[in-house]
Amino acid sequence: MPAEKMPVPLLDLKAQFDSIKPQVMAAVEQVFDNQGFILGPTVAQAEKTLAQYLGVPEAIGVSSGSDALLLSLMGLGVGPGDGVITTPFTFFATAGAVYRLGARPIFADIDPEDFNLDPAKVEELLAGPLPAKPKAIIPVHLFGQPARMDRIMELARAHGLAVVEDAAQAIGARYPGAAGVAPVGGLGDTGCFSFFPSKNLGAAGDGGLITASDPELAAKLRSMRTHGSHPKEKYRHIYVGGNFRLDAMQAAVIMAKLPRLSDWSDARRKNAGDYDRMFADSGLVNKGLIKTPKRLWPETAESHVYNQYVLRARDRDGLLKHLQGDKIGCAVYYPTPLHMLECFADLGYRAGDLPVAEAAAGEVIAIPVYPELSPAQKERVVEAIAAFYR
Ligand SMILES: *Cc1c(COP(=O)(O)O)cnc(C)c1O
Repeated sequence: MPAEKMPVPLLDLKAQFDSIKPQVMAAVEQVFDNQGFILGPTVAQAEKTLAQYLGVPEAIGVSSGSDALLLSLMGLGVGPGDGVITTPFTFFATAGAVYRLGARPIFADIDPEDFNLDPAKVEELLAGPLPAKPKAIIPVHLFGQPARMDRIMELARAHGLAVVEDAAQAIGARYPGAAGVAPVGGLGDTGCFSFFPSKNLGAAGDGGLITASDPELAAKLRSMRTHGSHPKEKYRHIYVGGNFRLDAMQAAVIMAKLPRLSDWSDARRKNAGDYDRMFADSGLVNKGLIKTPKRLWPETAESHVYNQYVLRARDRDGLLKHLQGDKIGCAVYYPTPLHMLECFADLGYRAGDLPVAEAAAGEVIAIPVYPELSPAQKERVVEAIAAFYR
């Protein structure tokens, strides 16, 4: 096969594993050796290390990013009849967690530049009549870039709302706010992370993390993660929680990989910067055929961790087919804004209600940006896109 026709996957987890296999396998073996599969020192150590890494006082290992969101909302007392303001342009779990608790997702439109919740739209919502009394806001740091948190926090404080950050795609991203540069996850009341294998810090299965700065809330979440059990007395339950524990095995895998995370994020940023330049040089941007993703704070080195590199493209569906036929990995995140999903039909949204998110859903395409991507692979991706528009 000629080199220029080599397939380029959207993500190559095997390449990453090959580079760290001895460390991961040793960590897993240790869990088997001590047979401590449920919580215990492996999870406690991971929580301590991750809390330090994320610059927060408390981190609670949980079963997935989805459960991090669900448990956060449970801990904050979100329940039937409450409203939770969030973005329609995110993975389903963000709004699913709200709905599962009998609360109502209230969608605010996104900013066309960064695809994140538009604070001006949140402000508009809060000024008008709402279908449910709001109790919380969930900003999502989509594709690895922080939402505009200063304004979101101001609005939340002014209206007495809790803030749950959905940082599933953004571990290690740092937000340059008025108070200084700080990692995402420590800005709101809780931060929710996912160790799903395709996230920037991926486990060997499901896993997640909640960060919390209030020690009382952290203690409550820690208890609710094991059916609301009392921290000292067995079979005494002080809340109705669930089984939301992080597996020790997954904690071990994450700990083995964590020392490499900032290098991987650097490599993702390097790839994104290379694409920005290559697409500009290709003329595709000037001709209005594609739009490269906007980096909001390029002067802050770690302000984006590029879980995805997402273009807007003319004739997106045509480009998608062309790339698939050419064996270039690509995907659409997300093809349907959440307010248009059939399972949320009872919320009463219609096409046109959130036009920025709806337009984005029709135009976006993610291309490979994973750390191990080679210069030749990047050239091949750019060339394949250029070929489509010739
Ligand atoms: C992946 C993801 C989640 C859910 O995480 P899981 O670990 O897969 O449950 C939630 N929100 C966003 C934005 C995600 O990308």
